[in-house]
Amino acid sequence: MRAKNFRRENVGFSAKLTLVWIFLALTILQARATPKDAILTLSPDQITIHSEIYIYGAEATNDVAKTYQESILAYWSKDYKGRDWKVTDPKTRRNYTVAFDVHVSVFNEKERATSFFIFDNLNPSSRKNYIRVSEVCRGRFRSHVSMYGDTGVWCAGGPPSVIAHEYGHLLGLIDRYHSVRDHNELDHGWESNLMADGMGGEVEQRNIDAALQETIRRLNPQEQ
Ligand SMILES: [Zn+2]
Repeated sequence: MRAKNFRRENVGFSAKLTLVWIFLALTILQARATPKDAILTLSPDQITIHSEIYIYGAEATNDVAKTYQESILAYWSKDYKGRDWKVTDPKTRRNYTVAFDVHVSVFNEKERATSFFIFDNLNPSSRKNYIRVSEVCRGRFRSHVSMYGDTGVWCAGGPPSVIAHEYGHLLGLIDRYHSVRDHNELDHGWESNLMADGMGGEVEQRNIDAALQETIRRLNPQEQ
């Protein structure tokens, strides 16, 4: 009797698992078929990094979305002297301009959307990013991005440079500071970089190179 019950429970469990797998497979197929899924596009002389960021939570408004988008582009679209970013393909010696196409909007076109489950988060192929904005920045800034680099919590009203720093994490870049007892210290050689100093640092060529490398790695995981 006991064994029979156990078996029946197991059948139920595997049926549920199968449904989850079918759902996942469908989501992945759907995402692959969507052109927005790609985050890198290549033209003869330009590489464009596309980022789709959706914000939700109590402070997620259209104004906040607009500020985030402007903050990110202010730091990332050109170097601090206003010049285009360039990279050279080491194999072909070909030069490319690197452009950023970043869109930040409220999830489902609804301001202050709260407590919902984002199915797209289960989809490893998805290149969309989801950020919760649940409070206004107060005191020490506590924004962060998950280790998978596509979800996070940012606050509203913080300095543009901090949002630009957090965007660096969405691109897969790591922090360039470390904690020493009760405070943070900037990594040696990174002092003027945005990923070290989220208040006064700048985006540098090495960030662009690393972001491109990371983006290509995520798009072609089988080649690693
Ligand atoms: Zn950081």
